[in-house]
Formats: sequence, structure tokens, C-alpha cells
Amino acid sequence: MFAELDGPKTALVQPFNDNGALDACRDCSGAKCCGNIKHGGTIEPPFLTSFDVAQIGNFTGLHADIYSQTVVNPHTGNTVRFLKTTSREGCHFLNEGRCSIHDHRPIDCRLFPLDLKMVEGELTWVIYNYHHCELTERDMAILAKQMGTALTALGSEAEDYATVPVPGMQNLPYKVVGRAQENPIIV
Ligand code: SF4
Ligand code: SF4
Repeated sequence: MFAELDGPKTALVQPFNDNGALDACRDCSGAKCCGNIKHGGTIEPPFLTSFDVAQIGNFTGLHADIYSQTVVNPHTGNTVRFLKTTSREGCHFLNEGRCSIHDHRPIDCRLFPLDLKMVEGELTWVIYNYHHCELTERDMAILAKQMGTALTALGSEAEDYATVPVPGMQNLPYKVVGRAQENPIIV
């Protein structure tokens, strides 16, 4: 299905393990999050790090402009990328309810409903209270463990990840679960 080649494939190392083992996701469906994303909607399209762009391009052979779009982050002045959506079913890569790039999906997808936000001037870990995510205690423990490794994986892009406006998600309630510069708060 990925026909538009964009240069030779190269070996990439995955820097961040995912939350694919969440109990909540097993009893749910990608259509509840991936199928609901839209710009300005409750679930905004995923942010793409430069590593995400490289690994998706490596896997699909697609140029980034085909599946993503750029936005200037007014807080940093940097240009960042978000996945595109389709009118059919949310994310560009959602196909019949399944992620067609699952092993190569962006870190933002791997973290959700965990997210990094700038709260009161500090990089802060939050968990969204998205009504479809019925997290178990085990899920909360898995998400808490991801904070440190995710911050390392985001690297210098953490500030853009946390500050670029995602207006639709302003209405999604969340709870603070940790500050990026501290050990995670037990949730
Ligand atoms: S809506 Fe939440 S629980 Fe359901 S698949 Fe998405 S992240 Fe997992
Ligand atoms: S890339 Fe995959 S996991 Fe991420 S929003 Fe799209 S379909 Fe969902």
C-alpha cells in the first residue's frame, strides 16, 4: 500500500518501547482514539519527532509531506510536524480499525493517554481522562515507568512536544502524574 518511494531504506534503532501492553487497549479498539483524531478535535493528530519521521519514511517509503503537515510552534519558533488525518477514519495510517505502521508508530501514539505538557512553566507528565481509556492499576504503573525513557527519546524535541498548541485537547481533562525533572509521582 506504500508505493511512493523516498530514497533507500536504512536501519533504524527504536529508542522507545511502547505501551501496547496496556490492559485498557486490549479491551478497546484503535478506532476509539486513532479513528477519532482531527485537528481541533478532542484527540488531536499525533506529534511527530524527527525520529518518527525517519522511521515512518524508512518503513513506508513515503515522503513526510504525504502523511504529515508542518506547523510553526509559536512558543519556540520551531517548525514541527503532525500526522495528517483523512475524512474517512481519522489517522492517515488507520486502516480498517488497525494501525498500518504499528511497529513504527510515533512516540505520541505509544504514550497516549500519557502526555507531556507545559504546566505552570514546567514540563509535566499528565494522563488524560479520555472516557474510552479504562486504565487498570497495572496500566498506570506501566505509564509511570515510561516517563523517564520517553523523555530521553524526545530529547531536544521535548519542549516542542509539550508546548505546541493542540487546541482541541484543551477540553480534555487530565491529571498531573509527574514533573519531568523529578522522579515520577506514584499514581
Ligand atoms: S482509546 Fe485508550 S484504551 Fe482505547 S485503544 Fe486508545 S489508548 Fe487504548
Ligand atoms: S499512527 Fe497508528 S497508532 Fe498512531 S494515530 Fe495513526 S493509526 Fe493510531
